Amino acid sequence: MRRRRALGLLSSVPLAAVLGSAGCSREQPYQLIEGATMGTRYHIRFRPPSRSFDVAALQAAVDARLEALNASLSTYRPDSLITAFNDAPVDQAVPVDADFERMLELSRQVHRASGGAFDPTVGALVNLWGFGWPKPKEPLTRLPEPAAIEAAKGRFEAVVQPAPGQLLKRAPLRLDFSAIAKGYGVDLIAEVVRSQGIEHFMVEIGGEVATRGQGPAGGPWRIGIEAPDPSVTGRILARVHLREGALATSGNYRNFFELEGRRFSHVIDPVSGYPVAQPPVSVSVIAPNVALADAWATAFMVLDEAQGLALAEENQLAVFWVYEDNEGRRTRQSSRMAPYLDAAP
Ligand code: ADP
Ligand code: MG
Repeated sequence: MRRRRALGLLSSVPLAAVLGSAGCSREQPYQLIEGATMGTRYHIRFRPPSRSFDVAALQAAVDARLEALNASLSTYRPDSLITAFNDAPVDQAVPVDADFERMLELSRQVHRASGGAFDPTVGALVNLWGFGWPKPKEPLTRLPEPAAIEAAKGRFEAVVQPAPGQLLKRAPLRLDFSAIAKGYGVDLIAEVVRSQGIEHFMVEIGGEVATRGQGPAGGPWRIGIEAPDPSVTGRILARVHLREGALATSGNYRNFFELEGRRFSHVIDPVSGYPVAQPPVSVSVIAPNVALADAWATAFMVLDEAQGLALAEENQLAVFWVYEDNEGRRTRQSSRMAPYLDAAP
């Protein structure tokens, strides 16, 4: 079992890699900024608008924005707003900030549209199944009791806002935004980057990606979806091209545990309370923003193949699934995906 920390909890290794090729241009050369956040790394590739552009100031602005987000939403931090909410008793209002409210609103949108497959009130289940923070010292040696699973189930309808800037729970539950926070963080960084006059950029946190303008080779940004093989990294299975785009990938192949001969995913079916039994090995989603793409990618790990395809079409999402079973690997895509895919790599 391999684990990495995400904002609150865990994250799989990035599934997407930028396929950059050096371009020759009379414009400013592309630059790269990177740093640590949410238990993984962020990368910003961009063309500075002028020769005198202050790269250090951009990075400082990005780091400050990410720090504010983590102070709100990190379940690792004892002093974050989300920890205060999670530890508060039922019916006690807790202050929340604008990021918290926005993330909740986006989460509710995907929760409803996905028939409950995406649900940030899975926090107690995530802990029960050993994917929480602090990380258990030992992997689970037996399955949780059905009564404990039932008690840990989330209830999104019990999260209510008595007034702007306030939040309370009507029943015991714990919030966990790990499945949307990296995507939301990418959207925030993209805003900071654009506000500094940058027209051509790609922002990425742990495989969740926003793009705008042109890539270093001159055309659209080209992003590879890696073959989901834990022993091989960097094998490209498909390539997408994006101009102004938002792409997120959820993967099951590096973040799971095995018990009694079964494999347990870090993605939990909020309805049954159990880790998803046979999720796709990966799902990539293109959506109007990266937060939505990220949340939907997690929802598609929960939904079965027929439900997933139907909801992708209904919600006009471009989705690319990779499945693996005894018969080998196969991919599937929604109708909106075709315009983004390059010819077979
Ligand atoms: P990754 O962090 O690997 O990119 P995801 O975006 O799919 O993956 O987020 C998975 C994390 O989200 C889990 O580790 C858990 O903390 C939380 N989670 C698990 N199941 C759900 C669910 N059904 N809805 C919302 N969040 C979930
Ligand atoms: Mg996600």
